[in-house]
Amino acid sequence: MKFPITLLGWVALFSAHNSYGNTDQACLQADVFIANATVYTVDEVQWTAEAIAIKDGKFAFVGSHKDAQPWLCGAQQHWDLTGAFVYPGFTDGHQHLEGVGRRTRSLSLFGINTLAATLASIEQWSATLPEGDWVLGRGWIEREWRDEQRFLSRHDVDDFTANKPLYLPRADGVSALVNSKALELAGIDRHTPDPSGGRFERDENGDLTGYVLARAMDSFRDILPSETDPYIKENLRLGMAANAAMGWTQTHDAGMTWREVSLLRELHREGHMAHRVYIAVPIAEAQLLIEQGPERSDDGLFELRGIKVFIDGTLGSRGAALLEPYADDDSLGFMGRTTQAELMPVLDQALRKGLQVMTHVIGDRALRKTLDWYAQSWAQLPQKHWASQDLRWRLEHAQIIPPQDQQRLVALSVIPSMQPSHAIGDLNFAPSRLGQRRLRYAYPWQPLLDRGLRIIAGSDAPVEAGDPRVEFYAAISRARLDGSRDSGWHPEFAVSRADALRMLTLWPAYGAFQEAERGSIAVGKAADLSVFDTDFMTDKPSNILQAQVLLTLVAGNVTYQKNSLE
Ligand SMILES: [Zn+2]
Repeated sequence: MKFPITLLGWVALFSAHNSYGNTDQACLQADVFIANATVYTVDEVQWTAEAIAIKDGKFAFVGSHKDAQPWLCGAQQHWDLTGAFVYPGFTDGHQHLEGVGRRTRSLSLFGINTLAATLASIEQWSATLPEGDWVLGRGWIEREWRDEQRFLSRHDVDDFTANKPLYLPRADGVSALVNSKALELAGIDRHTPDPSGGRFERDENGDLTGYVLARAMDSFRDILPSETDPYIKENLRLGMAANAAMGWTQTHDAGMTWREVSLLRELHREGHMAHRVYIAVPIAEAQLLIEQGPERSDDGLFELRGIKVFIDGTLGSRGAALLEPYADDDSLGFMGRTTQAELMPVLDQALRKGLQVMTHVIGDRALRKTLDWYAQSWAQLPQKHWASQDLRWRLEHAQIIPPQDQQRLVALSVIPSMQPSHAIGDLNFAPSRLGQRRLRYAYPWQPLLDRGLRIIAGSDAPVEAGDPRVEFYAAISRARLDGSRDSGWHPEFAVSRADALRMLTLWPAYGAFQEAERGSIAVGKAADLSVFDTDFMTDKPSNILQAQVLLTLVAGNVTYQKNSLE
């Protein structure tokens, strides 16, 4: 029997409830009483529980059914979770919310290998849109089609997009398909001359085909909805809805523009937050944050405290800055996306204002330099000028960490913020980029935990799916989604299930200075929960990938539910 108590047991509980109603035994007030669940609390004192009471957005009781009786009789609502599995609210420790929302409303044509299937996909997508909406997406590439290799024309799509303007850049991003409606809205016809540096492609009669190149694409930029405030605001809202449906109760936004921050603040004011957002602004806009200082809404759903810095590129593109050349190339990668001269004054201000620094480093050279610069800024500014001694500065990605730098993370109390899903994708090419020797300290999760470090897990969505099941699976299996892995993947660097759970709950809370108020299921903490139909602690890893989200709860409010609650 998989479930902790049988249906019969639940009926017994309710009869107990009724009898309590008729006695004078004290009933404790709660808003919600949750029973018939396997609760993994991530609380060291009490790792599992069966029942939870929630009052005023916080946990008021966590424990056994037996001890829950006074809460059971005093609760306004009773939820029978019929054996579901309850976890502290999952946090995606590195995400880009606007991009997550944008992804839900534009079509990806990457990887489709025929012209016919590409057109079918566009037709299907546009059918889901209301009249007048733009058909947006990207990624088509005729070279990869097996049936017919030609550029798309407006005649391919006009039939099913008569009242929907369409703009679909090719995979390279320097040409695009537009339809007749888009040409009409842009005021372009056969008499419009080509702009310098661009071309409206024409057929043998001089008519526009709808394939537009380079600077000719600029004619549409002004009429595309994609950069208006309402469009971006809606992306933020849709991103939160998509996240809540995945089971996320918080995301850390690793670089939200000031404009997005303002729009998210509006959504918060209007009561449209489907989860908590902990925000870092890009260093280019850090001055605004430095002037105003950290910001946190009373309800804790909106918090602005970080500065996102970029140092190097990525491993796949050989842009990660390495100490020694790539194994498959003479180069060392590059760094300097932010220079030391740009960075140091910002670090100084971050110390003075109590702002958290979150720096993108992927290669070991970028990582070592960044640790040097962190330490240098701390040495330069006397601590009496610091807003707090509790810095918790972070390294985002931190994919290649030689042992000596792993120890420096400990010595400097710097937090690694890593993406399990990146590892199981990157490990397909990391052996050729790095060679076997450096793989001994690439994506070194368990070695970091062995040193006592806490790792924040994140997805980097929309770069990755942004799915806690995938992050959890990758962290415990260190294998492709089909279960396979190659030599050099170091399966011993995978983490235990309990630690994977901490990486998605308590440790990201720590990474946002919130571990005292959320991140585990304990009395007094915010009632954030992620409820699934699958036991992440015992079920087969492949089953975890199939798990269904049943319920997402943020501060006691339901932000997603699969089935209605009784
Ligand atoms: Zn990112």
